[in-house]
Amino acid sequence: MSDNLCYNCKKNRAGKPGHMTSFVFQMMEVNVCNIGGFCIECVKNEWIDNFKRNAEDFISVVSGKLKVDWPEYSKHFKMGRFHDQKESFHSILVNLGILSREAKGNWEVVTYGPIGLNPRAHMAYFYFIHKEDAVEFSRLEKARTAFGWEIHHIDEVISEEEVLEVNNKVAE
Ligand SMILES: [Zn+2]
Repeated sequence: MSDNLCYNCKKNRAGKPGHMTSFVFQMMEVNVCNIGGFCIECVKNEWIDNFKRNAEDFISVVSGKLKVDWPEYSKHFKMGRFHDQKESFHSILVNLGILSREAKGNWEVVTYGPIGLNPRAHMAYFYFIHKEDAVEFSRLEKARTAFGWEIHHIDEVISEEEVLEVNNKVAE
């Protein structure tokens, strides 16, 4: 079964699910996870199409460094419109190493009320990989809360399972 062909082009060999594909596009380093069934070339082309449709207006490379136009992001997505574009844009930012679904080692804008201000969509919540992005984003999003707020760098995350496991051991 190692010679399954790509569903899309039907000529190259399909990549394995979960396999990471890395490439450079317009000086940006992109890391995409293959969902399986598609060849590297098609994964890359699909990503570039998605970038052009959903992200091009918000991202630039300034002297070799990736820059997200967070004011533009706020303006477009504040009203809860363009949900599909927002989700696509978030996953592009994950592929470019700007946002992460992992909390550990990353940054979060936190209010004194119980709500984080980080980018979010229907089911997903994202953390900033770089402090500068969290700082800029917090200045734009502070209007969303009546509470005071601050930015946290998350050094340790303990899963629910681990906490309950510890609890069980203490109880023994
Ligand atoms: Zn293909």
